[in-house]
This record gives sequence, structure tokens and C-alpha cells, in this order.
Amino acid sequence: MTPAKKKGRVFSGARPTGRQHLGNYLGAIKNYVALQDEYEDTIYCIVDIHALTTVETTKEIRQNTYEMALDWLAAGMRPEDSMIFVQSHVPEVLELHTFLSMVTPLGKLTDLPTFKEKIRHQPHNINYGLVGYPVLMAADITLYKAIVVPVGIDQAPHLEFTREIVRSFNYRYKTDVLIEPQMKGTKIPKVLGIDGENKMSKSLNNHIELASSPDETTKRVMQMVTDPQRARRADPGNPDVCNVFTMHKIFSSDEEVEMINTECRRAGIGCVDCKKIFAKNLNDDLAPFRERRAKLDEEPAEVWDVLIDGGKRAREVAKQTLSEVKDAIGLP
Ligand code: SF4
Repeated sequence: MTPAKKKGRVFSGARPTGRQHLGNYLGAIKNYVALQDEYEDTIYCIVDIHALTTVETTKEIRQNTYEMALDWLAAGMRPEDSMIFVQSHVPEVLELHTFLSMVTPLGKLTDLPTFKEKIRHQPHNINYGLVGYPVLMAADITLYKAIVVPVGIDQAPHLEFTREIVRSFNYRYKTDVLIEPQMKGTKIPKVLGIDGENKMSKSLNNHIELASSPDETTKRVMQMVTDPQRARRADPGNPDVCNVFTMHKIFSSDEEVEMINTECRRAGIGCVDCKKIFAKNLNDDLAPFRERRAKLDEEPAEVWDVLIDGGKRAREVAKQTLSEVKDAIGLP
């Protein structure tokens, strides 16, 4: 018998970054898919308004939204179980953002390490949206009264901040209309890129795209940095410091992991062969995803329909919350 789903809503949002990579898949998407079976309500949003804080051209935002939705759907996110939509399709979020901004101290926003990092990255474009980013994120979550938010470790301070904003709002207006969400950490908090050093990311070009062809994937895997101490084939390696081995633990069989763990340490296997095994297992794992993606891509209108329908359903929830929020504030 399938276990009963837990009550309550899960919310998560991600910026429209286009084709997703292995880091997105292991760090977020797999979790999103699993949570659909765990909770009654799951809400997943492509946060295009957030993206405007850092992008200087919106030329690719539509295509990136589409590509991302394709990946989400192909990976097993189900519109019949989840509301999957685009943030800007629910404009109520902007209204709630404004109300929440009134209970948010400016000094706290400018003190957040994530804000400081952003202004280091784009000193030429320190816009208001950048400062208000965590408030908009709080609006995203609280608009749907989510109780659980799956986030990566880098977003943890923002979620804590959302909880503070909720407390301030409820205290100021003597209400309990907004809910303090709980964080749900992902099983794999940090997926390293092929450089073996930094978190996998498109901007660092150290990523492996889910939708790439098997050949392209193999090519990327062959570029992966391994144990830096292992300069020659005859040198024994240390799998504990090698990102290829970390990936084997996710995608390869127990027997293969055991064999590599032993053979690498006594130079019984070379890095080239080790990577070939990983590339094959990764491609085998992604084959059904790629097949589903290609099929979905034959009917782009249906993908957009999923997003539009998700937006309509999300908007119903949003309108209800916003009405309660206005009542709590005492607006006429
Ligand atoms: S053999 Fe495999 S685990 Fe060992 S260093 Fe090379 S790539 Fe890493």
C-alpha cells in the first residue's frame, strides 16, 4: 500500500537558467520529484522576476524558461501532482512583496552575505531588486503558505530570513496568517563541477548538461579533474579526494564502486578507464530522461500549457492568501 502523503505544501523556486545540469538535477530536481510522493501539495516555480535582478538582457529568458520546464517535466515533475508555473504569471507575489518590505529592516538586507557577494559580482548594477531579493523570496514562499522549502545550503540564510519576516509581520499585525516555513536540506548539498573544485555551475562552464548527447557527455566526463596527486597512470590514486569517485557512488553499482575504490589505490585502474565507466553509467541513467525530453520538445505548446495552467492554479491560492493578508493589515 502506498503510504499516505503528508499534509501541507512544499514550495521551491529556481531561476530560469535554461538547460539544467547535473548539479541542478542532484541538488534540487531529484528532490522535487521525490517530494511529490511525500507531500499532498507541491509547488514549483520558475522565478523569472528574480532573474531580472542580475540579467541585463531578457533576450533569452523565454527560451530559458521553456528549456528548464522541459527538463523538469522530463525528470519526473508531474503537473497532475504539482503546480509548476512561472513567477510572473502570479503578479500577487509583487503585492505581497511590498507588504512584507514594510516589516523588513533595510540594514538586515544589506548585511546579508549573499547581498554582499552579489554587489561584488556586479558593482556596476546594484539595483533595488538586489537588496529586496530575500523579501521577494519570502513573498514567494508565504504566498502559498508553504510549510516546507527544499533549499541548498547557500539559500539557508534566506530561508531563515523569511522566517524572521513572517514573525515580524504576524507580530506587527497581531495575526497568524503567514506561516513560518521549515527548511529541508537536499541530500547532496554541493555537487562539484568538472574542475573538481567549484560548485557545478553554467557560469563557470564546469557543468554537464542533462540534455547533452551521450558523446558530448562522455567528452565532458573525460575532462573531469581527478586526484591531483595522481600524475601518472602508475601512481596510486586516492578516490576520497576525487570527484569522479563521488559521482561513481551515485551512478555506479556497488561492485563497481568497490572495485574502483580498491584498484585506484593500487594503480590497478587508470583514470581514463575509470571515467569511461562513469560516463557509460551516467548516459545509461539519463537515457530515459533524454527520450522523454525529446518527446516533450515535439509539442512546445503543451509545455507552455502546463506552465500556464500551473500559474492559474497557483493564482487561486495566491489571491486567497493576499486577501487574508490585507484583512490582517486592516486595509479597507
Ligand atoms: S582512478 Fe578514478 S577514482 Fe581514482 S583518481 Fe582516477 S578517476 Fe579518480
